[in-house]
Amino acid sequence: MDNCIFCKIIAKQIPASVVYEDDELLAFKDINPAAPVHLLVIPKQHVASLSDCTDAHAPVLGKMLALAPKLAAEHGIAVKTGPDGERSGGYKTLFNVGPDGGQEVYHLHLHVYGGPRPWRGLGT
Ligand code: AMP
Ligand code: ZN
Repeated sequence: MDNCIFCKIIAKQIPASVVYEDDELLAFKDINPAAPVHLLVIPKQHVASLSDCTDAHAPVLGKMLALAPKLAAEHGIAVKTGPDGERSGGYKTLFNVGPDGGQEVYHLHLHVYGGPRPWRGLGT
């Protein structure tokens, strides 16, 4: 898609700090992190927004979500359970959808962000 910044990242026309790539997905570090770890997971096939997704997108949406805990583990923000069952760590997963949802880049992306607090807010 012409003039889409994330399509340009997929095409390696602009640089990004890529942390994962396969045939369908790319994940890279957010340029303006809201938390100690802030990654974006995108489909390689351009779709502008979650609001443009249909049932046909369910497989790729599932793959995007399923990638989140793997990336979280690789980047040290996974949920850990201590000897007494207490949990620590963790992260958020977020789709901003449309103007009122705070979406600024119109190529579908899943935010995966977390790590030790404090974090700043994300979206408007
Ligand atoms: P959203 O508001 O959900 O559309 O989020 C777009 C995100 O893309 C923001 O968190 C930006 O910091 C991030 N972003 C924009 N341009 C780039 C880029 N060139 N490389 C990495 N992240 C970017
Ligand atoms: Zn795109």
